[in-house]
Amino acid sequence: MGIDGPWVIIDDSFRTRGLRIEMNRTYITTPIYYVNAAPHLGHAHTTVMADILKRYRCMLGYDVFLSTGTDEHGQKNQEAAAKSGLSTDEYLTGQSDAFRRAFDLLGVDYDFFVRTTRPFHKTQVQFIESRLKETMAPDGEPLIIQKLYSGLYCSGCEQFKRDADLTDDGFCLEHPNLRAEQTEENNYFLRMEPYRADLVTYVEKNADFVQPEQYRQELLVMLSQPLEDLCISRPKARLSLGVELPFDPEFVTYVWIDALVNYLTNVNWPDPSYETRWAGVEHLIGKDILKTHGVFWPIILMAANVPLPRRISVHAHWLGAGGQKMSKSLGNVVDPFEVIETYGASALRWFLARNMRVTSDSQISVDLIRATYNTELANQLGNLLQRLLKFSAARFDGCLPASDLDPKDNEHLKAIRQLVCNAYSANNLPSEANGFEPVELASIPKMAEDLLHAIGLMNEYVTREAPWTLIKEPANASRVQSIVYANLDGLRMVLEGLWPIMPDIANRGLAMLGQAPLELTGSPRTTLAGGRHEFIAGRLVGGARIGVIETLFPRIETIA
Ligand SMILES: [Zn+2]
Repeated sequence: MGIDGPWVIIDDSFRTRGLRIEMNRTYITTPIYYVNAAPHLGHAHTTVMADILKRYRCMLGYDVFLSTGTDEHGQKNQEAAAKSGLSTDEYLTGQSDAFRRAFDLLGVDYDFFVRTTRPFHKTQVQFIESRLKETMAPDGEPLIIQKLYSGLYCSGCEQFKRDADLTDDGFCLEHPNLRAEQTEENNYFLRMEPYRADLVTYVEKNADFVQPEQYRQELLVMLSQPLEDLCISRPKARLSLGVELPFDPEFVTYVWIDALVNYLTNVNWPDPSYETRWAGVEHLIGKDILKTHGVFWPIILMAANVPLPRRISVHAHWLGAGGQKMSKSLGNVVDPFEVIETYGASALRWFLARNMRVTSDSQISVDLIRATYNTELANQLGNLLQRLLKFSAARFDGCLPASDLDPKDNEHLKAIRQLVCNAYSANNLPSEANGFEPVELASIPKMAEDLLHAIGLMNEYVTREAPWTLIKEPANASRVQSIVYANLDGLRMVLEGLWPIMPDIANRGLAMLGQAPLELTGSPRTTLAGGRHEFIAGRLVGGARIGVIETLFPRIETIA
C-alpha cells in the first residue's frame, strides 16, 4: 500500500474501531501549556520537535496537522490572574499570546493553536463528561461517582498535598509556616480500575503505542497495580476558573478531562471530519506526563467509546550546565529567548535537534550552544557555502560554475546525495509495515548527524582537492569548475535536508544558490508545496547568476 492508497479500514478494537484512515494523513499534538508563567525551554523543545517532525514528514509527502496551545483553567492560572491585577480574561489572553508569539519566533508552523477557554472546547468537554456520566463501567457499576476526598490540604496553595510535597513535620514546602490540615472535600471521581485489564492488554498488543520501548515498559509497571479513582472536579467555592460540570453546577472540571480533550476538539470532534486526522494522531510528550497520557487519557477515551491515539512519543528532559536540573539559584537556566536574540531561532532549533535524546536527559547551556554554533554551523556549513560562492563569483564572472562533472567529483556528489537520503530513510519509508509513522521523534538527532557528516565530507573534499590552488594552472579550469559545482550542488541538497530543522537558514542558503524556497502550503498548511521532495543531484542551474552572498552564521565570540 503506497501513501496515496485508498481508504483503509483496520478493525482493531480500541485502536481504530472502524475509523476512516488515510495512509498519508497524520496529526501531531504537543501538550498544552499552563499560562501561569512565561514560556520556557521545555515548552520550546517539545513544540520545536513537533514542528521538525511535521516538516520532515511533509518532505516525505505526508499531510500533517500540528496542534499546540494553552491550558487556561485551574487553580494556578486563577491565582496568577488574581496577582496580575488584570481581569482574568485580559490576563489569560495576554499570557496565551505570549506563547503564540514564542512559537512564531521559533518558526513553528502550527495549524491549530487551542485556548481551552474557547467556547467550542468547553462545550465538547461538557459533552464528553455527560457521556461519561451516563456510562456504566465494565463491572456494571457507574463510571463516575461522588465521594468524600480526604487528604492533607494546604490553605496557602489551596491544594491537597502528597507526602512528597510536605516536610517530615507536615509543613508545606512552598508555605513553610503552614501545616497541611487533614481535610475532607466532596468531589466527583472517574473510576479507572475497571479499565486497567483492557488497557494492559492493549499496551501489550500494540508494541508501538508508546515509543520508545523503555516508556512502554514504565507504563506497564504503572498498570501492574490497582488504579486509584481519578478526581475530576473541584467545588466552585474553591475554584471558579474551569468548565462547569454539566451534571452539577456546584463544581468545575479539574484539569485532566478538560486539558486532554483538546486533542479531540482541535480536529472538531465529535464531527465525523475528525476521523481521518484522529486515526493518525501522535501525542508528543515529556516523560513527566507519561501517566496522564498513558493511563488517564486512554481510559477516558475507552470509557467515552473513542478510539485510542495511534502513538505516544516520549522524550527525556534538558539539564543545565554540570548536568544539574536548571534552577535560578544555580544560575544555569537557559532562556530560549536570550538564545534566539544572540544566535537566532535556527541555531537553537539545531542544538535541540542535534542533542536531544528520548531515553536519557541531555545537557544544555549557553556555552554549549555557542560552541555548537561556531564549530558546526558557522565554521562548517556557513563558511563552506560562503567560500565556494565567493570563489565561484570571482572566477566565473559572478555566476555559478557550469554543471559538467568530472567522474571523480560525480562520485563525490553521489556519496553526498546518499548521505542526505539516509537522513531521510533511516526508518521512514512509508510502508504497510510502519503504517503511519514515517519518521520517529527518536530519529531526529540521527538526521542532524547524517547531514552534518555530509557537510564534513564536503569540507574535507574541498580542502584536499584545493580548487584555489588548482586554478593557478589554466589547464585545470574545467576540473575547478567541476569541484565547485559538485560541492555547491551537494550543499543545495544538504540545505534541503536541513529545512525541517532550520527552515529559515535553509531557505536563505537556497536563495543564494538561486533555488526556490521550500514551503508548506494549503489551508491549513499541512503539505509541502510541490508534494513529496526528491533529492536529485544536478538541480543546481549551472552558469546562473549569483545574487547577494550573505553570512548565514555571523561569528559570535565569547562576551567577556
Ligand atoms: Zn502550600
